[in-house]
Amino acid sequence: MTDVATFGETMAALRAADPIRLGGALRLSAAGAESTVAIGLARLGHTVRWTGLVGDDETGALVVRTLRAEGVDVSHVRTDDRGPTGLMLRERRVGDVTRVIYHRSGSAASFLSPADVLPALTPAPRILHVTGITPALGPGPAAAVRAAVEAAAATPGVRVCLDVNHRSRLWDRERAAGELRPLARLLDVVVASDDELDLVAPASAATERDRVEALLDAGVAEVVVKRGADGADAHTRSGSAHAPARRVGVRDVVGAGDAFVAGYLSGLLDSLDLAGRLDRAVTTGAFAVASEGDWEGLPTRAELALLDSPPGSTLR
Ligand code: ATP
Repeated sequence: MTDVATFGETMAALRAADPIRLGGALRLSAAGAESTVAIGLARLGHTVRWTGLVGDDETGALVVRTLRAEGVDVSHVRTDDRGPTGLMLRERRVGDVTRVIYHRSGSAASFLSPADVLPALTPAPRILHVTGITPALGPGPAAAVRAAVEAAAATPGVRVCLDVNHRSRLWDRERAAGELRPLARLLDVVVASDDELDLVAPASAATERDRVEALLDAGVAEVVVKRGADGADAHTRSGSAHAPARRVGVRDVVGAGDAFVAGYLSGLLDSLDLAGRLDRAVTTGAFAVASEGDWEGLPTRAELALLDSPPGSTLR
């Protein structure tokens, strides 16, 4: 049985240590929010399926090969020659401020449709995970998210998780809210940064507390709020929990949110209590910020305890 099914766009990612316009060395990898969650879960021993469209090109082969090598089920991934595999450039512009440049408009993934994702939900997974990035990619991907969420919500035993993941380079907040708010009543788990909760909660809710309440009233079982270096909070009808961020040396914060989601969903699959789920989430989030790359540094299950080692330890 598949523990988690997810889908979205995974791009080729080129990372530059210096400003792109100056040239220099680049590091090539694959990057996408949902596939980072998929890899994070696979490393923790869960069965995960990632579905998406890649171009009929070498970077598409890189994406599929990477996910397959990480133990993610890619049996429903398709190549599509209507567009290339998307490309993302990431530069350290100043200090530790990272700037992302997308070349994803018209990519193969922007042609994703319900017909691409619905077959990947059979047999039913325990969890469907989607992000608010996918509906920003175009009408087809938006329809795919709606169709998958509706189908999963109507299937007994399937929990649906949405990470709001607002990408202001792709769409504005009004359009994002217009697409995401109608999904709320179908969701079991909502994950959002503290400045994103209003994109899925009703417009009438004025404060974070009101937004959490409104989502719980709409039937969402767990509302999880990410707060970067301040950790995270989770709310259910039976209580709330807070977890501070783990103290680590920061190397690359990109991907922390997706790593966090992988940890949270892993805790849910393992039937951990709320505090245990949050603890695993802040742990996987910390692994992401303490290592280069979005997913490369994510822990295996045995490695989860590494952060408990005293600083500067050598494990022999
Ligand atoms: P992204 O979109 O870049 O993936 P995000 O904004 O969705 O990130 P954050 O809130 O920045 O997500 O981070 C998610 C989690 O990762 C936090 O709740 C925290 O547990 C962990 N985290 C983030 N920054 C740090 C940090 N500096 N030190 C330790 N843990 C961190």
